[in-house]
Amino acid sequence: MEAKKLLVIGVGALGSAFLGNLRGQFENVGIFDGDIVSAENMSTQPFYNGCKTDIPVSKAVFAAGKLAQSNKQTNYTIYNKYFTEDDFDVIKEYDFIADFTDNIKSRQVINKGCVKYGKPAVFASINDRELSLYFYSNGKACFNCILRKATGKIKEGCESMLSAPSPDTVNFIMHEVSNFLQDKDDGGNMVLFSLFNGRRLEAYIKKDAGCEECSLHSLDIEDSTLIQACSSGIKISLHRKLDLGLLKNRVVSSKLIDDYLMYREGRKSFLISGDGDFLFTGYSLPEAKELLSSLLKSKP
Ligand SMILES: [Zn+2]
Repeated sequence: MEAKKLLVIGVGALGSAFLGNLRGQFENVGIFDGDIVSAENMSTQPFYNGCKTDIPVSKAVFAAGKLAQSNKQTNYTIYNKYFTEDDFDVIKEYDFIADFTDNIKSRQVINKGCVKYGKPAVFASINDRELSLYFYSNGKACFNCILRKATGKIKEGCESMLSAPSPDTVNFIMHEVSNFLQDKDDGGNMVLFSLFNGRRLEAYIKKDAGCEECSLHSLDIEDSTLIQACSSGIKISLHRKLDLGLLKNRVVSSKLIDDYLMYREGRKSFLISGDGDFLFTGYSLPEAKELLSSLLKSKP
């Protein structure tokens, strides 16, 4: 992977430490954060030491200015705002996305943008016990796959961080990110670093076939389907498990019966099985295909 353009989203304790340890590896660095530097930040975010806080100073603006002094060969782009779905086009512009927001809502939005454009990313967070890095690459489990399995079990990052990330922690991040960018890691791996004993743990995350972000969305109907037109209607087989509960929410007045989702209006009806089989009755083939793709497309 040749990553010349890096986008860092969130430059708090971890993000600012990461920025401070870049050594001109990237031609372009985008810095995304809507926060301002406050006096309370200084103890956990030494990167901002020396920033005057009597007037509001944007973290992104300060960071870009500070980095520009030492890495003159790198171009910096400042995004002085919080990341929302309106910013997906920004993701498109970069080769690698580093998400240090450590806030699940923002992370879901960033994940969605990375999946949309197939951009490799690292999602980093830290609590009082461990640092976790999840490396996403196109085709692998996305961050939403992890959330789907862990509902209620994932804690937001520690608001009460008492000290800046240790040099070992920061070195660990720099090392793992560099391995990923050098293609030593294919993505799909969650890497943990224990803050107690420095141990490294790694787990491969399996893609969730029902994931709203990376599975339904990425389905290519033409390549992966078996289509048969027969007397009972048009049969389409996707050969993969579907989340019928999710599809039900997309079709007004559809009914879930056992492992089937049924829908009927006038002479048109369809039946979808949890195994990915569709039976359309009363539809032409183009109508059936169009309906199928609208069902499977991720909602904006
Ligand atoms: Zn996913």
